[in-house]
Amino acid sequence: MKKVAFYTLGCKLNYSETSTIGRIFQERGFEKVEFTDTPDIYVINTCSVTDNADKKCRKIVKEAQKYSPNAFITILGCYAQLKPKEIAEIPGVDAVLGAAEKFQLVDILEGFTKKDKAEVYASPISEANTFHNSYSFGDRTRTFLKVQDGCDYSCSFCTIPLARGNSRSDTIANVVRAANEIAESGVKEIVLTGVNTGDFGLQDGKRVETFFDLVKELDNVEGIERFRISSIEPNLLKDEIMEFVAGSKRFMPHFHIPLQSGSNKILKLMRRRYKRELYAERVAKIKELMPHCCIGVDVIVGFPGETEEDFLETYNFINGLDVSYLHVFPYSERENTLAPEMPGKVSIKERNRRADMLRILSEKKKRYFYEQNIGREFTVLFEDDVKDGVMEGWTENYVRVAAKYDPVLVNELKHVRLTGINAAGLMEAEETYVEVLKH
Ligand code: SF4
Repeated sequence: MKKVAFYTLGCKLNYSETSTIGRIFQERGFEKVEFTDTPDIYVINTCSVTDNADKKCRKIVKEAQKYSPNAFITILGCYAQLKPKEIAEIPGVDAVLGAAEKFQLVDILEGFTKKDKAEVYASPISEANTFHNSYSFGDRTRTFLKVQDGCDYSCSFCTIPLARGNSRSDTIANVVRAANEIAESGVKEIVLTGVNTGDFGLQDGKRVETFFDLVKELDNVEGIERFRISSIEPNLLKDEIMEFVAGSKRFMPHFHIPLQSGSNKILKLMRRRYKRELYAERVAKIKELMPHCCIGVDVIVGFPGETEEDFLETYNFINGLDVSYLHVFPYSERENTLAPEMPGKVSIKERNRRADMLRILSEKKKRYFYEQNIGREFTVLFEDDVKDGVMEGWTENYVRVAAKYDPVLVNELKHVRLTGINAAGLMEAEETYVEVLKH
């Protein structure tokens, strides 16, 4: 039995796809092993969003060669779709597969026999037009379930449409089937994942279903206690979705909504499909419906043309918003996008300074959000990671709770009262946790 090991870079979507490809290998008689366990085959799933994608890829190939010098090394994922030829030149790489080919890799590469040169199978991205159902399983307490892939938007900084193709989705019936399958395996939380998740419902370019329909159907899936929406564009987060989540038992009061900039001038240059006013309306509506809802925000700083005033506009806008944490990205040029050609390049040093300012703001926002929750009661889903005898779990509204490690609590939902924030910035729930232990 041949052994195969995986390495995943990037987002939740990549994790769900690696997991599915792993299951394809197992169904075909391969044994899935750890990266360090001298596998015969390595599969490295790459990302194009991270900086230095090339360097990271080279580093992992080198590591793989160190652990298993004769292994067959396959590279796939977004970066493989964008730069197949460059990746094929990396010493040690045996095969590169594009977006349309990655789920067929066991058939395409058959015996996984090394050739003189790396084999490249990467069709143009227009051919990646079928949807492959994927979910991560066995890796975490939560499962990432892919419901949508690709994106039809054309944000001027983003290469994802070039790496993943047009927007396309699974059917609601298939997603519900997958959710039931996941529930049967004992997983309690599903994170709905996609490139542009709110755009769910397009099949062969036609809108057949909607994200709201999907949410309503999933809310009836017995056995899954929690659903989260990984990220949703503000223009697609309609009132009906917010109102439904507010009344739902299974959809958690947690939204992650990309903002990218708080300046309308920059939003326009970015080709985003909303203005800051719409974003502020969405946040206000969520908080009106669910005062303790967690709201995460993505922001890019140092986009071409972003002056100090524009940045301060973003800073002040976010400072005034009732949001809970930020994911901050210094702008980074991507080939074949419009933004690098735009005037007003911001120096790397300045991009980093602005990012640091927003990261400090994020810490303040998070602290404030946590403080608002002290004394309130929640349910925590405890996870499997242990560090120094401490385990962690998440409340419905995404507050991270620390507790003394107890294996019995893993993947269990426990009712707690939040008592205070510890030195590591995690919430404590000792009082009720002690009660939990007594039962
Ligand atoms: S919405 Fe914009 S940023 Fe997001 S994947 Fe699509 S093009 Fe990229």
